[in-house]
Amino acid sequence: MPSKGPRLCACGRVVPPGQMCVCAKARKAASDAARPSARARGYDGDWQTARAKHLASHPQCVDCGEAATLVDHIVSIRRAPYRRLDPTNFASMCAGCHGRKTAAVDGSFGRAIQSQVDP
Ligand SMILES: [Zn+2]
Ligand SMILES: [Zn+2]
Repeated sequence: MPSKGPRLCACGRVVPPGQMCVCAKARKAASDAARPSARARGYDGDWQTARAKHLASHPQCVDCGEAATLVDHIVSIRRAPYRRLDPTNFASMCAGCHGRKTAAVDGSFGRAIQSQVDP
């Protein structure tokens, strides 16, 4: 027989029948918030695999020739999301060169967007 009365949640709150405890709602909201942003940035399993493969076959930074520690997208995935897993859009880079490129590209991209919305 299902109980119709209030139940006691594991967190100690008394939960009215047919409702979800606020602790469960908070946990759900937190996981919903975390999931799309991680995906939106493109850091999912497919990317991790493609990135590791590219680093293994292209271990040197395309700019300075030092050991590469990360893989950059030649065309930003914000401009070309469909090229996120395209190996011809990958460039191995060291952290220093990547930092310089990101600052330059994101800076000009930001200004380009700005001029589009504010002609
Ligand atoms: Zn609870
Ligand atoms: Zn470099």
